[in-house]
Amino acid sequence: MKNHYLILVVICSANFLLAQNQIFTIYHDKVALQKDVENLIELFSNDLKKIEPTISFDIKSRVNTTPYLIYYDGKTEVNLPFWGEVIPEQKEFFNQISGSQEKGKEIFGLFFNGFYIPHELGHALEHAKEGHVENGYKSEYFANVVAILWWRKQGKEKELKKCYDYTREILKKLPNPTPEGQTMEQYFTENYHAATQDPAVYGVLQFSQFIKIYEDKTLPDFDRFILNYMNQMTKPKK
Ligand SMILES: [Zn+2]
Repeated sequence: MKNHYLILVVICSANFLLAQNQIFTIYHDKVALQKDVENLIELFSNDLKKIEPTISFDIKSRVNTTPYLIYYDGKTEVNLPFWGEVIPEQKEFFNQISGSQEKGKEIFGLFFNGFYIPHELGHALEHAKEGHVENGYKSEYFANVVAILWWRKQGKEKELKKCYDYTREILKKLPNPTPEGQTMEQYFTENYHAATQDPAVYGVLQFSQFIKIYEDKTLPDFDRFILNYMNQMTKPKK
């Protein structure tokens, strides 16, 4: 009985941490952004360590706005963008693909101050397990699976659905660069570096993966997925 009580307290305090922050929206305060992301990283790390207690996973975050927006540095840090410091050209891109300034901000908040945080932790997990991150279509797919499953585990269905609705809307506006006769995976695997240089092309890669994973009914829950991943020699096939 005592144990059950303890578990309940742990679950409630984890939910409390998530309920208190404004993740998935843009921040006007860098300190608050950093603090909320640190909390998320702690939640994520605790979830991982419950599944794989021996894993070495000690990741920090830093608010540092660059044109790359959000990324894992390949070592110990997730780099975070702050909307107030995003360059005008990139703000304009978000405004254009969304259709208005208001929506542009909303999309930035949803993805860069929300969805992509555990995505970057997915890359950090790949690094922790494999010793390196293999940049490419497959690594992005893996990170997107980790992110969607982890947010589901946190009960963030509503926020994921918002991301899903926007990705579908945006994809209608972005031309698909895949030539006839090739699958998107083949194309992006062969042209990954070039794709990363163009936000409209890279957006197609990311958002197509999001939709595919979101709609994939065969995926297990986060714990099962991580357990399978940790127990296999190579990355899971998509
Ligand atoms: Zn990524």
